[in-house]
Amino acid sequence: SRARAQGAPIPNALTIAGVDPSGGAGILADVKAMSALGAYGCAVIAALTAQNTQGVSHISPVPPAFVGAQIDTLFADVRIDAVKIGMLGQRPVTEVVAEKLARYRPAHVVLDPVMVAKSGDLLLENDAVGALREALLPQATLLTPNLPEAGVLLGERAVETVKEMRRVAEKLRERMAYSGHRWVMLKGGHLPGQDTVDLLHDGDRMIELPGLRVETRNTHGTGCTLSAALAALLPQTGDVPEAARRAKAYLTEAIRHADLLQVGSGHGPVHH
Ligand code: PLP
Repeated sequence: SRARAQGAPIPNALTIAGVDPSGGAGILADVKAMSALGAYGCAVIAALTAQNTQGVSHISPVPPAFVGAQIDTLFADVRIDAVKIGMLGQRPVTEVVAEKLARYRPAHVVLDPVMVAKSGDLLLENDAVGALREALLPQATLLTPNLPEAGVLLGERAVETVKEMRRVAEKLRERMAYSGHRWVMLKGGHLPGQDTVDLLHDGDRMIELPGLRVETRNTHGTGCTLSAALAALLPQTGDVPEAARRAKAYLTEAIRHADLLQVGSGHGPVHH
């Protein structure tokens, strides 16, 4: 990544998300992925968790006004080329992030609608889903839900076939704003069976990104890593399908190498 510094400027990517002290998910994972993919990573802390590879033991909110102050202070000085939004935790934080995005209007906004951890712990309070749907979704340029999150956003049960995924991708895209080019990347990791597929949809094209399941229990932070990789790559490619292919390839390699790490005895992190 240093070689490219002589040509195009190094993009500044920002994650607005939660902290996972074990470093597998949240902003620590995001910044690792951004660094590995040629971007400079910045982070605004939106929620605090106490967790390890076995699960989340505590969640502490960050005062919404302080989340806003972090964003204002950063944007007053640093050119931000892309933003990734992850765990927000509570409705007032979701609302302040939406308000700041509307003010600063970054070119790329990757919205990962984080709701529940793989351990089953609730990462977004139920009364915040409405604010996410009404205030943040319209500002996203790329929405990256998994199948359970897509179900919650649409108020339906999570789907289980690729055919149903196409309909869900279309319905989600209809909920995003119509100005500008906006995409949904619907992640099929929760499909039953060995094959998985992610769908990319912009209201017109429906692109399938097939994947093979990697046999490992170490998949903590995969969603965080993917959306952070997208935020790092979008300013460099300027093309969502190309950024999505490269981000997915990066994540697949990170999962394939996860077993090299020895971090905790539960669901361990992926290797960047
Ligand atoms: N903790 C934080 C702070 C997160 O942002 C996320 C991400 O989505 C998680 C935990 C959940 O990670 P996973 O479900 O991949 O274990």
